[in-house]
Amino acid sequence: MDLEKLKEVLKDESKYRLKEARDFVFVKFIDNWNQATSFSKDLRDKLNKECPLEIKADVLTSRNGDSIKAKIILKDNVEIETVLMKHKDGRNTVCVSCQVGCPMGCLFCATGTMGFIRNLTVDEILEQVVFFNRHLKKTTLSEQSESNGLNRVSNVTFMGMGEPFLNYDNVLKAIKVLNDANAFNISIRNISVSTCGVIEGIEKLANSGLQVNLAISLHAPNNKLREQLMPINKRYPLDKVLKAVDDYILKTKRKVMFEYVLIKDINDTDECAKELVELMHKKLYFLNLITFNTVKGSQFQASSNNRIETFKKILKKEKINFVQRYRFGDDIQAACGQFVTGK
Ligand code: SF4
Repeated sequence: MDLEKLKEVLKDESKYRLKEARDFVFVKFIDNWNQATSFSKDLRDKLNKECPLEIKADVLTSRNGDSIKAKIILKDNVEIETVLMKHKDGRNTVCVSCQVGCPMGCLFCATGTMGFIRNLTVDEILEQVVFFNRHLKKTTLSEQSESNGLNRVSNVTFMGMGEPFLNYDNVLKAIKVLNDANAFNISIRNISVSTCGVIEGIEKLANSGLQVNLAISLHAPNNKLREQLMPINKRYPLDKVLKAVDDYILKTKRKVMFEYVLIKDINDTDECAKELVELMHKKLYFLNLITFNTVKGSQFQASSNNRIETFKKILKKEKINFVQRYRFGDDIQAACGQFVTGK
């Protein structure tokens, strides 16, 4: 999809035409301009030729059907991954990528092993949500979800490939279209952005006035361990990241999520749990525990269930706000930290 080109192709038409065209793409989720029946045959042909709506993708569905991963092939033939998670309560969350690869090199993350290739454009970010909206339109039109209006993407998380704050402007522009009542119409509170701790990005988001959810990839309770797992911690040390988060909370009064992936014998010890308690004892801090998802060739393993239970007991005893996140799509390498392409 090249929606920038739409403006160019429709420049001699009335303003209303562009609005109508966007409505076909972002609301009706057509995948061919022939479905834009209110347009003349000539215009449909021209649009099919100059702004084709086809999205090239390979799709994998998890064993239990609750997650679908799409490997989308972009126009320069690079690939990105994105996943749809279908929750039991009817929500449909898409985890989108914002870069091809990632320069951050977190050791536990498959994307980190790819290095950085390029930033995604606004259209390429939106394309991932369009893809799954088309999929939902075609495949999950159960009466129940249709009557609830839930047969479309309801939530978007920027937790796929890449660091959103290294592609800040395009991510923010994409969020505005996702939230636009005349486009995807996704509630701003259902959109989350996750950063590994790029302080300038946290500051800019705090000043943007956008009520999106902020998540921080924490993964270690002290600088020494965090530096080993996430090289970016050398540039943005934990105390400075937490200071930026506190300023963000002061400004926005919004809750902040902290992501903590439990890795066997690395960050799942009693000592780590106790250190984490010290960090998390703040009113609007909320902790998300994630089971480590195996990545091919990784030096790490998932914590045992017993270990996770003990870890959680320490947090519970100290009244830390936390949840253990449900594991979506690990059998199709669609879970946290498993996105990788070109391998
Ligand atoms: S965890 Fe996020 S920031 Fe770190 S390498 Fe993976 S995609 Fe990049």
